[in-house]
Amino acid sequence: MRRLTALLLAGSLPFTATAQDAASEATRTAQAEIAKRLPLDDPRDEANATRGKLAEIADGVIIGKDGKPVWDRRPYTFLGDKKAPDTVNPSLWRQARLNAVHGLFEVVPGKIWQLRGYDISVMTIIRGKTGWIVVDPLLSEEAAAAGWKLFADTVETKSGTLPVKAVIFSHSHSDHFGGVGGIVTPEQVKKDNIRIIAPHGFSEEATSENVLAGGAMGRRALYMFGSILPPGPAGQVDTGLGPKLSSGTIGYMEPTETVAATGGTLTIDGLAFEFLDAGGTEAPSEFVFYIPAYKALHTTEVVTHNLHNILTLRGAQVRDALHWSKVIDAMLLKWGGKAEVAMASHHWPTWGTGEVGALLTNQRDAYRYVHDRTLFLANRGATLHELADQTPEAPVQAGDFSTRGYYGTLNHDMKATYQRYFGWWDGNPANFNPLPPEQSAAKYVALAGGADKLLAAGKAAIAAGEYRWAAELLNKLVFAEPDNKAARGALSSAYDQLGYQAESGAWRNYYLAAAASLRGTALDNLSGNGQSRSFVSAIPTAVFFDALATRFDAAKGAALKGTFQFVLPDSKEAVSVVVGGGVEFPRYGVTDAAPTATITIDRKTLDDVMLGQAQFPALLQSGAIRIDGDRMAFLSWFALHPPADPRFNVVVP
Ligand SMILES: [Zn+2]
Repeated sequence: MRRLTALLLAGSLPFTATAQDAASEATRTAQAEIAKRLPLDDPRDEANATRGKLAEIADGVIIGKDGKPVWDRRPYTFLGDKKAPDTVNPSLWRQARLNAVHGLFEVVPGKIWQLRGYDISVMTIIRGKTGWIVVDPLLSEEAAAAGWKLFADTVETKSGTLPVKAVIFSHSHSDHFGGVGGIVTPEQVKKDNIRIIAPHGFSEEATSENVLAGGAMGRRALYMFGSILPPGPAGQVDTGLGPKLSSGTIGYMEPTETVAATGGTLTIDGLAFEFLDAGGTEAPSEFVFYIPAYKALHTTEVVTHNLHNILTLRGAQVRDALHWSKVIDAMLLKWGGKAEVAMASHHWPTWGTGEVGALLTNQRDAYRYVHDRTLFLANRGATLHELADQTPEAPVQAGDFSTRGYYGTLNHDMKATYQRYFGWWDGNPANFNPLPPEQSAAKYVALAGGADKLLAAGKAAIAAGEYRWAAELLNKLVFAEPDNKAARGALSSAYDQLGYQAESGAWRNYYLAAAASLRGTALDNLSGNGQSRSFVSAIPTAVFFDALATRFDAAKGAALKGTFQFVLPDSKEAVSVVVGGGVEFPRYGVTDAAPTATITIDRKTLDDVMLGQAQFPALLQSGAIRIDGDRMAFLSWFALHPPADPRFNVVVP
């Protein structure tokens, strides 16, 4: 975020399409076709997205502790135009404008409010009998604190200051708990007995899901959320699920209680909440709930105003579209006909019993279609790319914006469902063990008659508007000759048009970020978010050592043998790491009788190392780490955990 932040602080960020292509005629035609086909003027979503607005944060700017903005909507004023520019899919443009509406909104008068447009996610505040119940305090502490201040200044000034009685984490993704420290401190939670309520399995999932594979997920997330793109009509516009990620501090707090898989009713600050388990849908640990007294349904991230991801582009374990659709149907059976408003952890609410029922029905059918259509076609021999290509749109998507692929898409959700049942292989042995991309690319270039001929074929495909084919051809050339500037330029031209045409914010961002990477114009942004001690210290020690093992340099360490006994006095834990055969195996809770070396280190010191606040040699010198036994063996083993390069290449070899 550094470069972007510097530009924003300088005042404005005029978007200049340096070297980036304008929308081609084929793209303009595609945009016009979708604009003609969809009822883009349907006013209902806009009415709901603006309904009950009470106040807003001036200019949509939230400044962090270091004086830099963690959220800034000033560069997004271009979204004020109702008509989409020809560099943005008109359907995505509509969604982006809805997501851009920001402020404090009254959802149920005097009972429920939402802060929207101040992070990728939405924070909900519910009036209990004696105080406030806060649901999903955004991704970063700074954004949550600013949202809370707007609420306090607007609502509390009228009703008098009341205490926070409970915080609800609806699921285990960090955009729904990371900002909790901006609402309450751990000391307040303890002193005032504030309840922190989450679904069962929350702690394990929240602190582990992104630790082992976090490096690659983080890299891909920069592409998917468009964090390395400048805002603008030919740049970052929206993610589909929300405007973008805030860039503040991601924290964590341990729940004081969890809701079991059986769900059931809990009384929270005098108010009854009916819970339904939704684990294994959008997140491994998740619930939805209904408040009978307010006739309000919170659908978490199971039902939102887009088709969600069965497999997110940043990478994750594949989700279950069948179970997802069944949970939505269970909601429909339980609360359909009762709920007068449905609100979620993203997007705007839906009011009216009939409208809520239609929303649930359509969403259920969309996920069911993803699942059943995949297997219908797979069982007739179609493989993942074929079945996705054969299915341009689900019937429900033609008439309902909430099911359109603004974030997940029918295309990649069907591929993901294929993967869930069959894995990554399509069953064709030619694709089982192909040459790696760099090797086959060089052979394709030779087969095409050389780089110039392949480049000409790629450019001809672009001229014909065949951007997918152009990308396939030119990607071969870039992988064979990564320094070939003409090839990189042509490939980025193909990605530009694919990005402009995409209805999914995630697809658009990924294509345009790829083009920017090829051109060397991507923003120098590793991650805007600071990791907090509260989050790092919550990572289970066993996961910590499993993550360390994934960093072991097996090639250099193939001959190493030994057992390294870790003793963590402050957390009273022990881990014995057995090394041999190019593998290290951490045994959590095991104390070895005759280790090669024993390393005594506080868990807190390990956290310091992870947070970059302490260096290993200095810790050895200061005595913060004590090594007994074969010190040299330990040091040479430990040196074989090189850090991964967080800027690794994605679109070039
Ligand atoms: Zn979310």
